[in-house]
Amino acid sequence: MRLVDSHVHLDDRKFDADREAVIERALAAGVERMMAIGTGSGPPDLETAIRQAERYPFMLATIGVHPHDAGKATAETFERLRELAAHPKVAAMGEIGLDYHYDFSPREVQRAVFRKQLEIAAEAGKPVVVHTREAWADTMELLRQGSKPLSDVRGSETDSEPRPSGSGWRGIIHCFTGDSQQAREALDLGFCLAFGGVLTFPKADAVREAARITPEDRLLVETDCPYLAPAPHRGRRNEPAFVVEVARRLAEVRGATLDEIAGQTTRNFERLCLRGGAVNG
Ligand SMILES: [Zn+2]
Ligand SMILES: [Zn+2]
Repeated sequence: MRLVDSHVHLDDRKFDADREAVIERALAAGVERMMAIGTGSGPPDLETAIRQAERYPFMLATIGVHPHDAGKATAETFERLRELAAHPKVAAMGEIGLDYHYDFSPREVQRAVFRKQLEIAAEAGKPVVVHTREAWADTMELLRQGSKPLSDVRGSETDSEPRPSGSGWRGIIHCFTGDSQQAREALDLGFCLAFGGVLTFPKADAVREAARITPEDRLLVETDCPYLAPAPHRGRRNEPAFVVEVARRLAEVRGATLDEIAGQTTRNFERLCLRGGAVNG
């Protein structure tokens, strides 16, 4: 079995005591690749994930400013992100987006910083890893604008020509916890949906329905560790090895085998995140 954990925060302090053991367990469980999310504690440090990914051949990195830290972003931040996007380990920009649950940064600032990073990702030809919480409509609106060539955004707003769907190149809605209608909305924009621990929670029927209707070439799995551990580990620290439990549940929901889900989600990740030239191994 080959699995990818498309979203890990192994830089978190919760892993300081046993990080190497956690990584060993993931490899032993069949997780052959992990994407380290580089938002860390926010600017000015933008290289958290790159530092980590440079140490392991099976690890890729993202760069970006989390919506929580949007207030810390400056013109220098964006300039540095542009440079770092060319680093051989950088596979995507993220996690970027909007979080109206915590509102750690003013919403207007969150939107501006998200929009700016979508532009940088488009220029660099990198997919984006999107975080959205209690901000669905605004997130979709910005992605709709950001997924057009920049000249179109600056030009006619009445241009409603449908984008080619099915390409799946633009990015990932990470930790997808919406319903099937929201899933369709994101899928129509060309996004992949990454399912995590929430998929295994008893009350998450709407999320499972979304996972059921998602085309097989748009599915990804993730842990978002150390957060949101799947059943039967719920409530404990999450770790990449547990992505197997997410994949197992996804297989159940879709009437597929674990091997099929592992193969499909791994191919999807490779298509989306490795073709931009990121180095793996
Ligand atoms: Zn997130
Ligand atoms: Zn995350």
